Parts: sequence; C-alpha cells; structure tokens
Amino acid sequence: MLYWDYAAAAPPYEEVVQTMEQIMKLHYANPSSLHKAGMEAGRLVRRAREVCAAAIGVKPEEILFTSGATESNNLAIKGAALQYESRGRHLVTTELEHPSVYESCLQLQQRGWEITFIAPDANGIVNPAAVAAAVRKDTVLVSVMHVNNEIGTVQPLKEIGALVKSANPRTLFHVDGVQGFGKLPVELNVWKADLYSLSPHKVRGPRGAGLLYVKEGVALAPLLTGGSHEEGLRAGTENVPAIVASAKAVRMSGEGRQQLYDQLVPLRDRLLHFLSGIPEFVVNSGEEGAPHIVHFSYPGMKGEVMARKLEELGMAVSTRSACSSRLAEPSRVLLSMGRSAREALGGIRISFGDKHTFEDITALEKALIKAVQDLKIAEGGVNK
Ligand code: PMP
Repeated sequence: MLYWDYAAAAPPYEEVVQTMEQIMKLHYANPSSLHKAGMEAGRLVRRAREVCAAAIGVKPEEILFTSGATESNNLAIKGAALQYESRGRHLVTTELEHPSVYESCLQLQQRGWEITFIAPDANGIVNPAAVAAAVRKDTVLVSVMHVNNEIGTVQPLKEIGALVKSANPRTLFHVDGVQGFGKLPVELNVWKADLYSLSPHKVRGPRGAGLLYVKEGVALAPLLTGGSHEEGLRAGTENVPAIVASAKAVRMSGEGRQQLYDQLVPLRDRLLHFLSGIPEFVVNSGEEGAPHIVHFSYPGMKGEVMARKLEELGMAVSTRSACSSRLAEPSRVLLSMGRSAREALGGIRISFGDKHTFEDITALEKALIKAVQDLKIAEGGVNK
C-alpha cells in the first residue's frame, strides 16, 4: 500500500519514536513535582519550549503547549474572544478554514458574536483587501490559515496582516499554520501574527501535543482551568513524552524545510501535469500552492467511491481533510471557491512527503487511470 495522506498524519521520525519511549520509561515524573525526577521532567519541557521557539523565531515564553492544533485553534479564537469581549463582539475569518477554526467561530456566533466569513476567489485565495474591509472598530480577531489542508492553497498573509493592522491596530491576527510549517517559511513578524497554531504530528512528530504561539502582551482567557500549568493558560499535567518528541520533530522539520520543498515540488508538478491531462478530472490545486498537497475532483463521482477504488489498487488517499472525510455533504471549501455541488462531492486529496519517489508517482498515475476505467464500467459508462 502506498500512503498518500501525509497532510492527515505524517509517519514519525525514528528519533521521535525513540524519544517517546525513552521519556515514558525514564522521565515519567510529573514536571510540577518538587523532587529531583520531577525537576528533570520540568527541565525537559523547558528545553522543548526553547527548541520550538527557536524553530519559529520567537521567545520561549511565547510558546504554549496544548494537546494538538485543534486545541490551539480553539484557544486562540475563543480565548481571545472571551478575554477581549469588552472591545467588541466581532470576528473575521474565511470560508477555507479548518473545522477547528470554523466551528469555533460558529459556536461564538450561536452565542451572539458577529462573524464575517470571507469567501476566497475561484483559485482558493483570499483577497487581503476583502479581509481588511471587514475589519471594524469592534473586531477582536482575524483568523486566516497559512496553507489550506484540503487544496493546499497559500494565503497572502503578509498583505493580510499589514492591512488588518492598518485597519485596526488592536485587532489580533491568528494564523493556523498547521499545513505550512516544515514546507514553507514561517514569518510571524512579517505577517504581524499575534497567535500561530502548529501541529507536530503533521511534521513527523507524535500525536498528543500541539503548539500555540502567543505574542508577548497578548492575553487569552483559558479554556481549561485547573492548575497553573502553562502560565495558567492551559491547565493539565504536561504530556512530557509528546512535548519533548514534538520539539524534536519541529526542529528537524524546520531545519529540513528547504530540502523537503525542493524534493516535493518536482513530484507535485509531475502529478499536476498528469491530472490536467485526464479529461474526467478538475484540478483544484496549483503550482503556486503548497508542495505536499494535490487535490482534484471527479465531478459526479463521490470522493469516497474513488478513494475506495484507489485503496483496492494499493493507494491510500483522502477525500478532503481527514477531519471532514466522514461528512457526506459537498466540501465547504470547494463550494466557497464557486465549484458546483457535483465537483465538490468528488474530491480526492493526495498529500505526500520525503519518502515518495517518481516511481511512486508513476504507480499512482497508473492506479488513477485504472480507477477511472473501472468506475466508468461500474457506473454503466456514464459519469453521472
Ligand atoms: N488546522 C489544519 C489546517 C489542519 O490540517 C489540522 C489537522 N487536520 C488542524 C488544524 C488540527 O490539527 P490537530 O490534528 O493537531 O488537532
């Protein structure tokens, strides 16, 4: 089976697996405990914080460990909303966001917050001027993702950040950086980002730990209350093995970013070129997108049916993002780009990483051709 689902979960580095095991065996003490073993666990968490901070060019005190990027996004949005409610009750985000951002906004909307959802253009790119035009005096936060998890488009964060801050300097700017980190440069200062979420398991780290950068001076209302962990912003005993192993993955994937990019772009471009030659497919991602995500639709054919067929042929792919793959409705992201419901139902996401080769792409191309033939026969030769 060839695995084409790196954007959902990337296989961990061997060093990450070893670190997890080693820490679980040797450093199981609670980092809050005052004995030597606890202090050592605390030292490991501090060191991990320094490593993660260095990887994105911020101060260690600005890094918060969570359970994953879903929690980081929830905390960034709801934590800022609760903290700064006195400034207003308005947020701006986009139609492209991951459910952890989108649903957080909808939850606030149900509680009386006003949310402006900005639609992207037909290529899946948000117009910075449209974001800025939505910012008002009472806008507490703007949240825009770096790379879309479904189609891989890259948002113009520099322009968005600059326009948002000139529209209202007090409005916070949150970036969901999950699919961009390790593939594209992270420029928090250039983007003028106040909050930035990162998920180690997407960059060959473990599950169970996430990161949230919180710029010095920005306050958040905690969502998890209890002990004084993470400066009181996120109560709960630290997941030391996942945190330490995450720091390893974040460092390694940050250092290997350019090399990975150079390796993946020719693979992606070859696949894009192949897909554009198949008349049944509509390609939804482009060469300006992230190097690891390719997305196409087979209008009229459910993505799940195509994905199952590809699995029979030895290819593990996703229909959209793993978090939405069980939904039967058309993709919200594709609909927001103006795609028809037929196109939005039939999405396939192929995402790859350092282990893939041109031979793998050749095998995938053959499987795609066979899948189309088989499905056409099964559907009575009509692509309904
Ligand atoms: N944001 C984006 C863009 C994602 O792709 C994901 C993972 N599907 C998340 C947030 C949530 O990350 P996690 O799996 O760490 O909760």
